[in-house]
Amino acid sequence: MNVDRWGAGVGVRHAGGVRGIVAVLIKRTSPDLVRAKPLNVIATFQTRTDLRQWGHVYGMGVVMAVRKILNLSKYEKLLRTPSEPVKKNDRDLKKLIADIKDTIEANPAVGLAAVQIGVMKRVFGVRLGYYEDQPDEEMQPATIFINSEILEKSIDTARDFDACLSIPGMFGYTNRHLVIKVRYTDEDGKVQEREFTGWDARAIQHEQDHVDGILFLDRLDSLDDLYVVSRGADGKPKNIPYKEAVKQAETLAQTNKES
Ligand SMILES: [Zn+2]
Repeated sequence: MNVDRWGAGVGVRHAGGVRGIVAVLIKRTSPDLVRAKPLNVIATFQTRTDLRQWGHVYGMGVVMAVRKILNLSKYEKLLRTPSEPVKKNDRDLKKLIADIKDTIEANPAVGLAAVQIGVMKRVFGVRLGYYEDQPDEEMQPATIFINSEILEKSIDTARDFDACLSIPGMFGYTNRHLVIKVRYTDEDGKVQEREFTGWDARAIQHEQDHVDGILFLDRLDSLDDLYVVSRGADGKPKNIPYKEAVKQAETLAQTNKES
């Protein structure tokens, strides 16, 4: 089966795989959310604009200390494991911080947690001050959060999207606290207490979830809030509701079986 055959680029996983394609087994990751049959829904990898900077660029050569990002389809167990506190400010920590920064910049991404590159430490980076369609060169360097705790959360929440380098080709709408107060150790070893609002607060909550082994899929109210980013027949990015994508994949699987 060729993904192009279906036009919109979503299909059932086939033997051998296709470069630039990943399978996300939602049934296994969020069983409570899914009533559909287990299916590998495949989404084409996206350019960063598709997912508004949370997007994904694969096949990039290893430059600097850009690390491989672990994805949900292969590394679910790890991604669902809470990370350990950092105890020492040593060379390993410095290397980890450099790797997180380089990997964020290379993708480019807004945020990344250590677990996503296979390091089970409570460390993540977020590029603060992000806004939609922000040019790469205007993005700030990542701020590093070590052993962070969310001390206070506003009752007010904001609904916006979540996407994740470990769940390529998908995004979902979630409610996140609008204002949070965070205590963390910065990369110079100083303990900070800061308040964050809006997108910064959202990105920090997403990464804080990672160190606790939680994914944005767990924050969806329902599967109606989940979308697969695909490519239309015209080659342009197209968002398809997840349930619709599953249906299309099932139909395609049936067609393939019959032919
Ligand atoms: Zn993520």
